[in-house]
Amino acid sequence: MKAPAELTAKFRASGLKVTPQRQLLFRLMHENKGHPTAESLFSVASDHMPGISLRTVYQTLTDLSSMGELRLIDVGSGATRFDPNIDDHHHLVCQSCGGVRDVYVSGSGQLDVNELDGFSVDTTTILFHGLCTPCRVTQEVSSTVAEPLVRISKSNTSSKNTTNPKERMS
Ligand SMILES: [Zn+2]
Ligand SMILES: [Zn+2]
Repeated sequence: MKAPAELTAKFRASGLKVTPQRQLLFRLMHENKGHPTAESLFSVASDHMPGISLRTVYQTLTDLSSMGELRLIDVGSGATRFDPNIDDHHHLVCQSCGGVRDVYVSGSGQLDVNELDGFSVDTTTILFHGLCTPCRVTQEVSSTVAEPLVRISKSNTSSKNTTNPKERMS
C-alpha cells in the first residue's frame, strides 16, 4: 500500500474526495501488520476521530482494494481482513488469539499439484494454523505449573507400592 500522501493524490486523480477521515484511515492502514477487520479498524479510528462512521471505513477500504492498494484475506475467522501488504505472501494464523502474521513461502508459485485436470490456477493461498509465540509460551507456562502436581501424586503411589511388598516380606 502506498504512503498516505501518494494515496491522497491517487484518490483525487480518480475523482474521489479525500476527507480528513479518509486520510486518517490511510495513515492507520499504511504498514499496518495486524490484518484488521473493518470493525477493528473502525474502533481504532474512532479513538482518533470520534464520529467517524463504519460506512466511511468500509467505503475507504473497498476503494483502496479496488485500486489494488489492499488485499482482502479470509483466514476462516468469519470477517474479511484487510492487508496493506500486496506482495506475494502467506499467513500464519494463531488459533488461540486469532493473530495473523505475514510469512513468505519460497516456491509457493511452483507447488507440485496432482489432478488439476486442466484447472488454471490464478493465486495460491496458504494458511498455517497453530499457536503464536506469546500464546505458546503461555500454554507452556500453564503446563509446567500443572506438572509438579502430577509428580507428587506419582511419588505417593510409588512409595505405597514399595512399602507394601516390604511389609509383606517381614
Ligand atoms: Zn496467539
Ligand atoms: Zn498479510
